[in-house]
Amino acid sequence: MATKDQAMEMAEAARETEWKFPSFTAEMFSGNFRWDLLNPYPEQDPEDKRIGDELIAKIKDVMEKYLDPIEIDRTGEYPREVLDELAKIGVFGMKISKEYGGLGLTQTNYGRALSMIGSYCQSTVTWVSAHQSIGVPQPLKLFGTEAQKKKFLPRLAKGEISAFALTEPDVGSDPARMATTATPSEDGTYYLLNGEKLWCTNGPDADMLVVMAKTPPKIKNGKEIAQITTFVVEKPSPGLEVVHRCRFMGLKGLSNGLLTFNNVKVPAENMIGKPGEGLRIALTTLNAGRLGIPAAAAGACKKFLLDCETWVNTRIQWGVPIGKHQSIGRKIANMAADTYAMESLVYMACSFADKKNADIRLEAAAAKYFCTETTSRLLDEFLQVRGGRGFEDDTSLYERGEMPVPVNRVLRDLRVGRIFEGSSEVMHLIMAREAMDTHFKLVMPILQPKPGQQGSVASHIWKAFKFYAVWYPKVWMPASTDFNVHHLNGPNREHLAYCARTCKRLARTLFHTMGKYKEKLEYEQLLLANFVDIGVDLFVMGCTLSNAEHLLGKDHGNQTPQELADLFCKNARVRIEQNFRAIKSNHNNSFNQVAKSLMEGKFRWMVKDVFEELPPKYRNYADNLPKTQGAEDLAAK
Ligand SMILES: Cc1cc2nc3c(=O)[nH]c(=O)nc-3n(C[C@H](O)[C@H](O)[C@H](O)COP(=O)(O)OP(=O)(O)OC[C@H]3O[C@@H](n4cnc5c(N)ncnc54)[C@H](O)[C@@H]3O)c2cc1C
Repeated sequence: MATKDQAMEMAEAARETEWKFPSFTAEMFSGNFRWDLLNPYPEQDPEDKRIGDELIAKIKDVMEKYLDPIEIDRTGEYPREVLDELAKIGVFGMKISKEYGGLGLTQTNYGRALSMIGSYCQSTVTWVSAHQSIGVPQPLKLFGTEAQKKKFLPRLAKGEISAFALTEPDVGSDPARMATTATPSEDGTYYLLNGEKLWCTNGPDADMLVVMAKTPPKIKNGKEIAQITTFVVEKPSPGLEVVHRCRFMGLKGLSNGLLTFNNVKVPAENMIGKPGEGLRIALTTLNAGRLGIPAAAAGACKKFLLDCETWVNTRIQWGVPIGKHQSIGRKIANMAADTYAMESLVYMACSFADKKNADIRLEAAAAKYFCTETTSRLLDEFLQVRGGRGFEDDTSLYERGEMPVPVNRVLRDLRVGRIFEGSSEVMHLIMAREAMDTHFKLVMPILQPKPGQQGSVASHIWKAFKFYAVWYPKVWMPASTDFNVHHLNGPNREHLAYCARTCKRLARTLFHTMGKYKEKLEYEQLLLANFVDIGVDLFVMGCTLSNAEHLLGKDHGNQTPQELADLFCKNARVRIEQNFRAIKSNHNNSFNQVAKSLMEGKFRWMVKDVFEELPPKYRNYADNLPKTQGAEDLAAK
């Protein structure tokens, strides 16, 4: 059983500590609004765009001919034919480079393709994305040997399906508890895998999996250090079994399961990277991989703008189209502005990923967090705008002769975006950790000197003094307003100036808050979430303004990007100011107290006149445990 400290130590050890390339978000937390990194907004290279356009047209064609998302949602079955057709046009090799038989798409084209698929069928996005955003191609691309790439990538590009297996019944956000083991043979030629992996997307149908497992621990300074290691495991393999297919509130067409490994023999040459590098490989894979989810979410929301336009014009209540009622007007206006913000953010982040000289770990986390949270809110609002029809099934609408606008399906499908590939809470932790990094590096050796740390405490005090003597006055100086923009109107220029000065305020406030809480700030998740949310909003404001400047430059006749950027920025500024207020004055202690009371069962007095039991048939659920290795342990619990 890993302790909290061990869990944090392991996450810390797997963290990339170096910033080789500039990151807009990292700089922002230090008080620098690097407009030069956002502006000019990236314009896709014409040749790259042509490649993307051609593929998107082919994908559209396959979806039109073979894919019925309503039927998939109704039956929970995904037609193999669709996968075969998508494989024929190269969709399973979109991220695999040409030399290994893939399409070698840029992240921008990959994002565009996922956005197109996401505007139609989320189950399909998940098949395609689990395969190559996080499945075998991505870690091989980043960490594989040439021999591994040659062996696996051409097969994957042709349509063999892959999956990513990290999660276990006891391992969700916290990999330190990993129980799956990989035991080396005496001669070192193979490993035996034992354990179970839960919710493995594509797992039941995959031809190969990337699996994280514990190899024998390393002893360092007399201390045992757990080693998580990554392997490619081919299917079928004796001992590897799919023991349950999981079903969810959405993504009904997903192939997802509980897999057990019982002495599964894996050749040593299938190890990716070195023993002990597995968690770093998994986290780095997820860094870039998580850009797929926001692209698909943005695609879905863009499509709903069309449905929304039709609906709010044609639905007449109280003598006017409902879009003219102010409370509906606000919802649809926010829907347009937020969709524009997602689009601006997604393609900015994709272009960062396409550059060889950008670090996207924070931008990808921000994009995933912002787009999944925004989509949930936005689709819930659109469901409200659709009234009773929002709650009605697509099939039911269709069967009684109405347009089946799939808002409830897509809301169900996309809800998991806030949970998988790193939950929103985990995105907060990742971003907060990096936001505090500069200060942590300088201050921790003074506040909490580690045994054997390099340099005396006095030398660290001197180092910190030298840094802060320059940095601190800078975050008080007025921000530059020389933005080199030609098309943004007055209000949008003012938003830009707000971003620049608020970055400094953010950095100052973070520093002061660190001074107040010292090393304990790490545990103030709610405060840190306020900081992260301010940072994310500032980043997205920057993306929307840069995109507006770009679009206006191309077509001065269309001023609507000004409107959208302005509305998004106004909303974001309200949220930012609320977050600053919450940093200064909050009732976080009340949350702590009431949560503690709930955990101690102190509110049971409230639970009366309720049926406490499950329906009779389901009370013996523990008897249904698949007969896996961990089954007995779980039953004992
Ligand atoms: C449809 C679906 C598909 C999936 N596909 C895959 C896949 O292909 N491969 C794979 O390996 N996994 C997959 N997963 C697993 C997914 O990545 C996990 O669900 C996710 O990592 C969260 O883990 P958990 O559900 O165990 O939640 P837990 O880790 O138990 O967390 C429960 C809650 O506590 C919060 N929490 C946890 N730790 C902290 C903390 N330190 N601070 C604050 N809050 C915290 C979480 O955010 C969450 O809200 C899939 C899951 C689903 C539902």
